[in-house]
Amino acid sequence: MKFNTKTIHGGQEHDPAYASVMPPIYQTSTYAQSTPGGHKGYEYSRTHNPTRHALERALASIENGNYGLAFGSGLAAIDAVIKLLSSGDEVISTNDLYGGTYRLFTTIFEKFGIKFHFVGMESADNMETYINENTKLIWIETPTNPMMNVIDIKAAAKIAKAHNLMLAVDNTFATSYLQQPLDLGADIVMHSVTKYLGGHSDLVMGALVVNDKALAEKLYFIQNASGAVCGPQDSFLALRGIKTLHVRMQRHCENGRAVAEYLVKHPKIEKVYWPGLEDHPNHDIAKSQMKDFGGMVSFVTKGNSYEDAIRIVEKLKVFTLAESLGGVESLAGHPASMTHASIPKEEREKTGVVDSLIRLSVGIEDVEDLIADLKQAIG
Ligand SMILES: *Cc1c(COP(=O)(O)O)cnc(C)c1O
Repeated sequence: MKFNTKTIHGGQEHDPAYASVMPPIYQTSTYAQSTPGGHKGYEYSRTHNPTRHALERALASIENGNYGLAFGSGLAAIDAVIKLLSSGDEVISTNDLYGGTYRLFTTIFEKFGIKFHFVGMESADNMETYINENTKLIWIETPTNPMMNVIDIKAAAKIAKAHNLMLAVDNTFATSYLQQPLDLGADIVMHSVTKYLGGHSDLVMGALVVNDKALAEKLYFIQNASGAVCGPQDSFLALRGIKTLHVRMQRHCENGRAVAEYLVKHPKIEKVYWPGLEDHPNHDIAKSQMKDFGGMVSFVTKGNSYEDAIRIVEKLKVFTLAESLGGVESLAGHPASMTHASIPKEEREKTGVVDSLIRLSVGIEDVEDLIADLKQAIG
């Protein structure tokens, strides 16, 4: 089955009760048993729920994986991965990381004796310097948030295999439409379903997809034992979102390109970060591992003024000033004061998150309206 068919049919079957085409929202916490242990495969909804199951099968299908797991948020999914580790273990992670992931690693898990190394991974070889006998996991995000750095997944997988480490890839920005990390050698794919997979800014959810049965069983155990699951209503919405992922992503990519090309030519713009631009430092890797370049575009204004950036994001009308990304509507954000405020200024500036950086989640509106909006706001 090819990708566009998978988003609609992958892992899906009509509901056994009445052959409903969409799975019912099984809004129940528990299931009747005829005799103790005599049930129809479902006992308690933290452990299993048929609507969540339908979503988990769809997630596995679009990532070309065998097992999908859905969680109450993207961070809950990441939390489950780190709980595979024990005190004393070490993780090598990208230094240009979603702020919430950085906060989870440094303020929660470091307390439990897990050590994180934040490393620039523009060249995959940088990772090797940090590998020792305690290293268990490589955690990458590509493209990264908000600098749009692209990490070579195949090269990272090669290093992980050579040292017997797990490789986890946060695939939130690219989505399964643009890249499939498991096919490139990753062990775990993670999504904030909140973003493109849900696609309509109406839910918060996370997901993991893996191929290995033993790894899946460990993660299912953590999912049930820690309990950060999503409810049936949100599972239904995410499933519905996934069915249009491919058409939405096509438009996000087209509009992303048009906006990036407009900004590149703008006299007041210093730099545009979008992996589809020829002069993007990792353009060739992006071309080799992604189908297209996505709808996330970041830029810096000339003079790098904090006030200019604030003025621009306040003046935007079609773009909404808001956290998050990946919905049908265009959003703008100011990472230094919003998504990345939890990263110390010195740390964030090292990775390029300067005061005038603006991040756009280019939506699927008419691109002429988006460009006109940028024009009036930038001036
Ligand atoms: C939003 C986001 C997360 C966290 O997901 P939540 O659903 O907000 O918990 C993780 N990684 C990336 C790249 C994100 O954009």
